[in-house]
Amino acid sequence: MAPTADAPGTGGLTSEERLLRDTAREFAQREIAPGAIERDEEQRFDRSLFAGMGELGLTAAPLPESVGGAGFSYLGWTLVMEELGAAEMASAVTLSVHILSQYPVVTFGSDEQHREWLAPMLAGEALGAFCLTEPHAGSDAAALRTHAVRLDAAGADLPTEAPATDVAAYRLTGTKIWITNAPEADRYLVFATIDPALGAKGITAFLVEKGTPGFGFGSHEQKMGIRSCPAAELIFEGAVVPAARRLGDEGQGYRIALSALAEGRISIAAACVGLARSAMEQAAAYLHQRSAFGAPLAELQGLRFMVAEMAREVAAARALTHEAARAKDRGEAIGELSSLAKWTASDAAMRVATDAVQLFGASGYSRETGIERLMRDAKGAQIYEGTNQVHRVIVADAVMDRARA
Ligand SMILES: Cc1cc2nc3c(=O)[nH]c(=O)nc-3n(C[C@H](O)[C@H](O)[C@H](O)COP(=O)(O)OP(=O)(O)OC[C@H]3O[C@@H](n4cnc5c(N)ncnc54)[C@H](O)[C@@H]3O)c2cc1C
Repeated sequence: MAPTADAPGTGGLTSEERLLRDTAREFAQREIAPGAIERDEEQRFDRSLFAGMGELGLTAAPLPESVGGAGFSYLGWTLVMEELGAAEMASAVTLSVHILSQYPVVTFGSDEQHREWLAPMLAGEALGAFCLTEPHAGSDAAALRTHAVRLDAAGADLPTEAPATDVAAYRLTGTKIWITNAPEADRYLVFATIDPALGAKGITAFLVEKGTPGFGFGSHEQKMGIRSCPAAELIFEGAVVPAARRLGDEGQGYRIALSALAEGRISIAAACVGLARSAMEQAAAYLHQRSAFGAPLAELQGLRFMVAEMAREVAAARALTHEAARAKDRGEAIGELSSLAKWTASDAAMRVATDAVQLFGASGYSRETGIERLMRDAKGAQIYEGTNQVHRVIVADAVMDRARA
């Protein structure tokens, strides 16, 4: 069915943003939506869809022109993510994580890293992954254990206290889990510690290419939702990464991860708005088609009110998501707003998708209509990019800090 042309809260868009949205919508509905049920069943990643996003320039859309990006506003980016989320959450997550893995390179990377690392990613030729979570470190990411031992030019171990200028390379050992886009991704932004005793202050970011000796993949995650977006375990067994592939300074990694996640959460919030919008639109159309007790279900006020509740959830989540994106475009701090947006939008997606299953009755519960998939897909968004409990912690901290001032 045709998605809403101009949804509430999208009135103030520029002509450029509308064009970007319409381009993403046309591609998402033509190329992505039709095969979504089948790819989910088969748990199959389709690389050609990512390549198609690259051809349209979506893989570079929100990155600044100074590094070869398309330079669209972050608000514009949320429009792209809403359209992808409405077609298939798995494709939206693949692209969102791809962008998440590039943003820190824009902000903290050297000119050489901008040229060499970003160029194929911006073009959609190389797929990116963001690698923070470990078996013992999820919400508590500062507890990660993947170890980056400093090496001199001869390959010998250097102590933590040796000057950074003596470091020629790092040897990475450890395990990452739940890494979206792995093992399909080509370029991995990996967080490791130069000394586990330093906690968050030891965490350092590295740019690691697929194929690096000592870097391989373990089990593939068997997911409840977003099943056509791959996720896997990464195994580092002495992978040597040159110092030129360290992103930022030693010990800057935790800050790099948090700042990237703050941006990524707005992107995921937008995809959730799209998922919720699609669930609402499909449910409303179904109420017109289906009759019971001699009249279309669309005439039952109790069900119409459920659709109204859905519209409220979608519009509120979109408004908060756009506000977070506008704050980012204005260069303001986005930590609290991006948490509010991601928490609100993922909860909205879960509620709207659950109600859509209810409105479709048994058809909603069937794996053949694609409605139950929306519910499974929405659930993940309440967990990744910071669980919604972690967002309560972030928001409470911000409010309580202001109250103390
Ligand atoms: C589909 C999917 C894709 C993912 N993709 C990536 C990826 O690309 N890269 C990556 O690095 N990671 C990825 N992850 C991992 C994800 O970031 C973690 O699952 C998430 O951070 C939660 O960590 P955990 O699973 O270890 O749960 P835990 O941290 O063990 O949490 C367990 C429960 O305790 C709650 N909890 C924990 N701490 C607190 C607290 N302080 N206050 C209140 N409640 C708390 C949590 O909310 C949760 O309910 C992905 C996960 C999923 C499901």
